[in-house]
Amino acid sequence: MPPITTSIFELLKIGPGPSSSHTIAPMKAGFDFIEEARRLPEADRKRADALEIRLFGSLSATGEGHGTRRAIVSGLLGFLPDTCRPNVLEEFDQPGQTFRLDLGGPSLEYSPDDIILDAVRHDYPHSNTMTFALKAGDAVLLERIYYSVGGGFLRRKGETEPKPGEPAHPYKTMAELKQHLRRNSMRLHQLILANETAVTGAAEDEILLGLDRIIEVMERAVELGITTAGTLPGPIGLQRKAAILYNRAREEQYQGPGFLKAINAYALAASEENAAGHCVVTAPTCGAAGVIPAIVYMLKHHMGGRQSEIREGLLAACAIGFLCKHNASISGAEVGCQGEVGVASAMAAALLAYARGSRFQVTENAAEIALEHHLGLTCDPVGGYVQIPCIERNAMGAVKAYNAYLIASTLDESYQMVDLDKAIRAMAQTGRDMSRKYKETSLGGLAQSMTEC
Ligand code: SF4
Repeated sequence: MPPITTSIFELLKIGPGPSSSHTIAPMKAGFDFIEEARRLPEADRKRADALEIRLFGSLSATGEGHGTRRAIVSGLLGFLPDTCRPNVLEEFDQPGQTFRLDLGGPSLEYSPDDIILDAVRHDYPHSNTMTFALKAGDAVLLERIYYSVGGGFLRRKGETEPKPGEPAHPYKTMAELKQHLRRNSMRLHQLILANETAVTGAAEDEILLGLDRIIEVMERAVELGITTAGTLPGPIGLQRKAAILYNRAREEQYQGPGFLKAINAYALAASEENAAGHCVVTAPTCGAAGVIPAIVYMLKHHMGGRQSEIREGLLAACAIGFLCKHNASISGAEVGCQGEVGVASAMAAALLAYARGSRFQVTENAAEIALEHHLGLTCDPVGGYVQIPCIERNAMGAVKAYNAYLIASTLDESYQMVDLDKAIRAMAQTGRDMSRKYKETSLGGLAQSMTEC
């Protein structure tokens, strides 16, 4: 197996929820296509009279509920996931709304309703396929096929995946990572930073600025969530709860149960923002986008965490996320929710331990404890919406991360019997053994028992 070459900003991506493959990648596709259309000869741009967009696979099956149409239109209008306003997709919510697409002078009227939800099963090589065709009568002026390949990544038909650089300290497991740290007398965040520079070619300053932006978007999602009431979009009519818990935590001055209520409130807040289709950070996925922000917010606003400590903690969290992604999965569709909220909880536990200045072994132990106690967790979103059980599950994941840190940092390190590599192997095997019903299909578990009620 090759060494880990995943970039920090592949794991932690900014963009609108509730599902990166349904919103972030389609938004990028819209942006990319309109940019290309603007480079067509002027005569073609002037005679263009129609844009035909078709969605296939799960983009067709659940794209409507996940806001795929409005994500594409926002991209066509020039918005990109990491720079758009947090609630940009709400501007494209009204049925029958039309917009003028700028083709670099000439323009074309277009409505999100024009996007065609095509076949769920098809012959394209990737399940989540989008086809775009700019037309003049029967003539096709520009045609592109895009694949949303998971985690918000977009690939164009015919495009080969860019080859990453060689990591400065190649590793595949935590055991190998620890050898590098010992051999080079390095700290974990230094190694992750050095690898990021080698793999992506980005300068260290650039990476640190990127991390600050990630922290800022996480904090903004928490702050918007704890100050917003009402129900979330979609047929479930789910009530937002973060603001209620936050107000109670404040009344209790964050003491005793008030402290736990605050962690819950922060995780619910970012998750509710995700469910509302607002911008979050995939950490490591949109579904699990509340766990790490809750711990970041606690650290910064209640535990005196400095920005530099939080950045370093995030780098340590990325090491855990990379190992889980490389040796198991971070996709609910592949291994169930243990790979989403479970991994997010392990990353958050490591972040907390590392940012609080714990020894390296405490960081690993905290991550292992958090992951171990999510093993076997299924993915069964009710109605296919990232709301029940997802939102409360983020709160549980954040509290478990805090608890894992407490256990790991209180007990003697030699008491730890299970190491992180073993827990990740167990997650991978459990995921392989898990019935398809429990892997984001909504065919089992809570998704079914809710239907029966
Ligand atoms: S239940 Fe499924 S969709 Fe919901 S957070 Fe977990 S993995 Fe994601």
